[in-house]
Amino acid sequence: MPEVVLTADRNLMSDYGGSVFVGFAACAPKLLPDPLFRLFLCPPVPHRKGVALFAPSGTRKIEAVLLEEGFDVVVGHPEHLEEVVDERTRAIGITTNDPLGLGPASSTFSSLVGRETYSAIHFRELITQRIFRRKDLKVIVGGQGAWQLAESRVMAKYGIDCVVLGEGETVAPELFRKAVRGEPLPPIVQGGPTPLEKIPAIKNPTVDGIVEVARGCGRGCKFCVPTQRYLRSLPLEKIREEMRVNAVVGHLVIHAEDVLRYGANGILPEEEKVMALFQEVAKTGMDASVSHVAFASVVSAPSLVQKITELLGIGTKQKPFFGVQMGIETGSPSLIEKHMRGKTLPFKPEEWPEVVVKAHQILADHHWVPCSTLVMGLPGETPEDVERTRELVERLKEFKSLIVPLFFVPLSFLSGERFFTAKDMREEHWKLYAACLRHDFKWIKELARDHFKDSRIKRMMVGILTNFIRKRLEPYLKLMEEGKSPFRDGSSA
Ligand code: SF4
Repeated sequence: MPEVVLTADRNLMSDYGGSVFVGFAACAPKLLPDPLFRLFLCPPVPHRKGVALFAPSGTRKIEAVLLEEGFDVVVGHPEHLEEVVDERTRAIGITTNDPLGLGPASSTFSSLVGRETYSAIHFRELITQRIFRRKDLKVIVGGQGAWQLAESRVMAKYGIDCVVLGEGETVAPELFRKAVRGEPLPPIVQGGPTPLEKIPAIKNPTVDGIVEVARGCGRGCKFCVPTQRYLRSLPLEKIREEMRVNAVVGHLVIHAEDVLRYGANGILPEEEKVMALFQEVAKTGMDASVSHVAFASVVSAPSLVQKITELLGIGTKQKPFFGVQMGIETGSPSLIEKHMRGKTLPFKPEEWPEVVVKAHQILADHHWVPCSTLVMGLPGETPEDVERTRELVERLKEFKSLIVPLFFVPLSFLSGERFFTAKDMREEHWKLYAACLRHDFKWIKELARDHFKDSRIKRMMVGILTNFIRKRLEPYLKLMEEGKSPFRDGSSA
């Protein structure tokens, strides 16, 4: 058995039926019984004798670094760890995205509904029931959500020896070496940013064929964690290698904070480099999607959207649309100026609403469908700011898209501020929330029809479910549109 076992919480160890975006479901409060959630929405990745056949990209990167450093390491399936851990094992490394349900999506939905999220439930199950406890077995936790655990009380409760914040590649070898030697570990370690040449190519396939093509962002939004990292684009040789490793998955998700700025040296997309990347993607012959794109990049380089569309055959019967995650965050230029000045570049903060509308038009013309986030409760937010955002949402009505309003979570440069919760919702917030729900209900059936183009039953099920939820929610929506809380106590459920 290996000396080091890596794993990830159950929410990260699922391909969500081939759609990584359905992974948002892990941030939902527990409304469906957990066994049904696991079976239908979050089926587990397959394993062979406890070794996970697919794993999150972050876990695979740490695995690659440790293998290159000569460690005996495997990635274990979180529900079959007893098959890969024995008395020889000295360290377990866990990747987690949202261990306590405090991330922006989770805290929004759980605060509104008043129930714990699947992400928190599944992490607790992993750390309290599935991780073996021995004096000589160290538990190290990292990943996007590790910040939620970086407190001595929480670490003691869950028996965590070390929390790694930020990127792990440069600190992991030394930490795991210490753990293997039985030496004490520092409780909290700040990692990264990893220099480009030290970001390894993965050795084994990722969940949903995720291939990281660039890391960091550099636009500098004050509430965003990648803010602290500069943009690094991986060389094409490494990307080719990761696509080759993922051939077994059969499809790819090209991941970066803004795929259109792959290879960019400044704020503007560099068309040649992005097209060289997509030529490589097209050569694999695999179906591909991208994770994130920025509105400002779309408007800066509309021809790039057109070229990628043509190259990947987007808008055809086989690939009717192309979903991308994007960030609107606000419709208020003054909040942009205060907290996310770089987000709009090369455009000015006052141009932001126009940039968002124009980008939607460009994307719609090419069958790209944005799934965008908004942030409610940013520090210094006024009722006028929220109203500007609602006006922007109304202007987006005609564009096939989804808009997800999230509560502000104090992270990064704004970590000293307070969480926004359902109790802080005012008249203008309820109106904005209602506008987003109306928008999403308008488009979700059509998107489901395209997404489940090969399954009439699934299309029907989504249609029935959407109509059912919409009818049940209608009276609440009306209250929200009048600026009233739909909950009896005036705040959350
Ligand atoms: S543009 Fe997006 S990824 Fe970049 S810093 Fe802002 S919120 Fe973060």
